[in-house]
Parts: sequence; C-alpha cells; structure tokens
Amino acid sequence: MLATVSSNIFSNKYQPIYRLAGRAKKIWTYLTQNSSSSKKVKSEYTATNSAPNSSNRCDYVTPHDDIRDELGGVSCWRETWNGTDYCIWHAEEYGKPTNELADRRLNRPERIDQPHLCGVTSGDDISFEDCQLWKAKFNSSRLSGAIFTGCFLHRADFTGTHIDDADFTDCHADHAVFQNIEGRGAQFTDASLVHADLSTETRVAGGLGFADFENADLFDATFRNTYLQQADFSDSRLTHVTFVDRSCVGDC
Ligand SMILES: [Zn+2]
Repeated sequence: MLATVSSNIFSNKYQPIYRLAGRAKKIWTYLTQNSSSSKKVKSEYTATNSAPNSSNRCDYVTPHDDIRDELGGVSCWRETWNGTDYCIWHAEEYGKPTNELADRRLNRPERIDQPHLCGVTSGDDISFEDCQLWKAKFNSSRLSGAIFTGCFLHRADFTGTHIDDADFTDCHADHAVFQNIEGRGAQFTDASLVHADLSTETRVAGGLGFADFENADLFDATFRNTYLQQADFSDSRLTHVTFVDRSCVGDC
C-alpha cells in the first residue's frame, strides 16, 4: 500500500502568524480566566517551597534581539534546581528525573524558551500542549506518546529521540531538527514544519513509518534517507520538499 501524497501549494502564507497569535491568546485567556479563581492551579510560586528572591531564581534570559520577530525577550523567574544557577528546565544537565520535571510542569500552557531536556525518559508522563518551547533541546530523549499538540517548537532539536506515537498535531516546528529519530506513528497533522530537517544518517528501525503529515506545511523540509513507509502526506504542502538518497515513501 502506497503512502498518500498530494500537495497544497496554495497554503495561506500568513497562516503561521495567525497560529502564533492564537497560541499567545490561549495563554493570556487562561491566565485572565484563572487569576481570581478559587480553582487550585500550580504556579511558579505554589509549585515550590521557597519565597522568591534574586538568589534562588533562575538566571536564564532570552535577549529581545534574539527572538523579537517571534515572541520578544523574557527572563525566567523559576526556582533554581539541584544546586545550579538555573531552574530544572534551563539547567544543562543530562537525564533529568521525570518525576521532578512533571512536578514543576504547571497545569496550563507555559512559555519556556530554550529548555534543556536532553536524555530525559518522560514518555507521555508530561504534556506540553499549547506550550511555547522555542529552541527546545530534546536530544536523545525518550518521548514515545508525548503530547506536543499546539506547541510552539520553532528551531527545536529532537535529534536522536524516540517520538513514536507522539502527538505534534497543529504544532509550529519551523526550522526544527528531527534527525535520526524513531518516530513510527508520530502525528504531525496540521503541523507547520517549514524548513524542518527530518533526515536520517543510519536507518533507524521505525523511522517515520505510519507517520501522519496530513494537511501539514512542509515547505522546504528535508527527508534524507528517511524511512516513510505508509506515511500519510494527504493535502500537505510539499513545495521545495527534498526526498533524497534512500528516502522511502510507500512499500520499501
Ligand atoms: Zn529557568
């Protein structure tokens, strides 16, 4: 059975802008609707035991000039973690414990620029639905079944990860890197993957077999030596997409 491939070269070029504005609105709406509510919501403060002061808060800063065309600059004010000068999301340690990450993940969409999540084994224990994770580093992590629906993942790095059956529906992952992944059955429906790199150096067992790219924007994306058996590209935008070397679409 061949993969379904058709393209929509007339996708609205302004669609990514509308999507980003929509995500910012979701976060703002959540905050305003819950600011005076008695509903128990974890916050940067209630999730920790220490009163906030400059000595126990994360030193991470996103300079405005680095991201002004997308989100604007921001300073992190989360509690420091594990004796470092940074919070659990920004400390550059490999293989952070899943239970501690889950405990500090707020139950609402968050903006966490450049989180360092290499070597984690969170699987589907943590949801990043509607979060903004600009330049996130997930290298060599096991994220099978993870939830990234509606997530802003511009320039994120998923090199060497296991993302089989993970849900990236409606995510915004332009310029993201998905090299050498195990992504069998991953869902990219309605996702924006403009300029994304989904190449493979050495064929991984599942590659992106049975992955779903229906209605995805794949403008200028690269699939080099990528296993794509029975992947679905229905109604996707494939303008300037590169399928080279042993990229395999259909029965391989
Ligand atoms: Zn931080």
